Amino acid sequence: MVVFDGLADSAAPTSEKYAKALRSIEEVTRDADSVQERVLEEILCRNADAEYLRQFSLGGTRDRHTFKSKVPVVSYENLQPYIQRIANGDRSDILSSLPITEFLTSSGTSGGERKLMPCNEDDWDRRDLIFSLVMPIINTYIPGIDKGKGLYFYFVKAETKTPGGLLAHPVLTGYVKSSYFSSRWIDDAHTSPLEAILCPDTSQSMYVQMWCGLVMRDQVNRIGAIFASGLIRAIRFLQLNWKALVYDIHSGTLGPKINDESIRGCMTRILRPDPELAADIESECSDEKWAGIIRRIWPNVKYLEVIVTGAMAQYIPTLDYYGGGLPMVSMIYASSECFFGPNLKPVSDPSDVSYTILPNMGYFEFLPCDPAAPSLPVDLVDVEIGKEYELVVTTYTGLCRYRIGDILRVTGFHNSTPQFQFVRRKNVLLSIDSDKTDEADLQTAVENASKLLRGYEYCIVDYTSYADTKTVPGHYVIYCELLAQGSAVDTIPKDVLDRCCLVMEESFNSVYRQGRVADNSIGPLEIRVVNRGTFEEVMDYVVSRGASINQYKLPRCVNFTPIVEILDSRVASRHFSPRVPHWNPERCG
Ligand code: AMP
Repeated sequence: MVVFDGLADSAAPTSEKYAKALRSIEEVTRDADSVQERVLEEILCRNADAEYLRQFSLGGTRDRHTFKSKVPVVSYENLQPYIQRIANGDRSDILSSLPITEFLTSSGTSGGERKLMPCNEDDWDRRDLIFSLVMPIINTYIPGIDKGKGLYFYFVKAETKTPGGLLAHPVLTGYVKSSYFSSRWIDDAHTSPLEAILCPDTSQSMYVQMWCGLVMRDQVNRIGAIFASGLIRAIRFLQLNWKALVYDIHSGTLGPKINDESIRGCMTRILRPDPELAADIESECSDEKWAGIIRRIWPNVKYLEVIVTGAMAQYIPTLDYYGGGLPMVSMIYASSECFFGPNLKPVSDPSDVSYTILPNMGYFEFLPCDPAAPSLPVDLVDVEIGKEYELVVTTYTGLCRYRIGDILRVTGFHNSTPQFQFVRRKNVLLSIDSDKTDEADLQTAVENASKLLRGYEYCIVDYTSYADTKTVPGHYVIYCELLAQGSAVDTIPKDVLDRCCLVMEESFNSVYRQGRVADNSIGPLEIRVVNRGTFEEVMDYVVSRGASINQYKLPRCVNFTPIVEILDSRVASRHFSPRVPHWNPERCG
């Protein structure tokens, strides 16, 4: 047994096999600044001769000062022409001197399409390194957790090829399909067979993963998904499908809907009738109340391993309900551009979760968020506790001084490396799963719906929105106040407002539409028409709480419960999208 000083005061001794991983965290965080210097040097050695960096005439210099004075801070739109050429098949050294082997499709979008992030062969080494730290860290706090099995709901998502023939897929799909994942996915440690995770049909995959999780319920000591929304979807799936699952567990079969060859092949090893277990599960699931269902079905589970920070915080009450108060553990802060780092205190309350950005993952800078006094980005070790920054990253794959769009607050340091709370994603108004809808997207959607209403001599006087996560899956709600114009009839036909919902959905970006069509992670958009004068009442309420009437602007998204209550109490009619919007699996767009 080895005890690691400095990782955490309350850290319990951990087993020898995790020693190396934990020691690597200590080593890399001890002198963060010199690690950052080395990382930048390595990146510049690798990419300075590629077309993008060559234009800034760095010469042979590899030092930070020259780099920062000559290379601009950029957003995706600045890099898009370079990325597009790579996607189109140009194999010259454009961003990186190493070949780009695939693209990772970010859930951030540009012009309605997913952003494409370049990936080199060795990029997976770095990403895998972060995954490899998760168990050692958790085991430090919950010793012996690795003795049981993890029920993790992981899935692959739609992939596509760029015009130049490079594969483009979400980062987790890329990872799950890589040899790194398969070598880490040990059957003894997990309930889901790899074949089920890799099955492209999400409902077959989910069914089999749930089946296995139920059959091995006594050995399951942790349950997870990447994001909280994914775990809630799995529980909802159980709610809708428990009768079929109970039947199959009772008889030791898999229903005819499970026709994926590789799944059926691997399941023949596991299938056996278990009437007693089937009866237990039936009795739990047939209870009307699903409060604490996770604890009841999986009595040995110690925690839920899902990200509940950032946009996912909206799911904490629902997970608390199903989990019966089980702790929620957010382990990793990562993106398609770069993986950043782990949470070194997994058992902290969701509101206290901080991530330690590992200095060997990329070269990191931080743009202070102070609109009153805009200033230059500072280095990783120069951030100040309590202040907020936008993350800027330079990666091995060729992104240089790239704005990720995440706002982080410094909460402390681990050795000399800062730790950050995720504050928010810049400009994101609505998010249910991996979709990100900003104010401009919503405005365009409302304008498109208004065009339809104009034909009936109605207009939208004002609107706001709300991400309703009480339904599973969650859905966007748009509150609209309508005004009849000219000779308009008193009421507008219901089907017109239903169609407005669809028009809005068609206006949203491809990530939203994929969530609706392929992933079933977002429910039909809802318009709630509120009575005339409702938004004035909202304003009166806000002003009564001290806001200046001159500066009052209706927020385009509302989360504050009293305001949502005012709106909901004035709803005249509710409308839903009659069908799913258009989404093209070939183009993933
Ligand atoms: P993507 O580009 O689709 O891979 O999504 C990456 C983004 O998801 C990040 O830039 C964050 O905005 C968000 N994200 C990732 N990990 C976390 C986390 N642990 N907590 C909050 N937000 C996260």
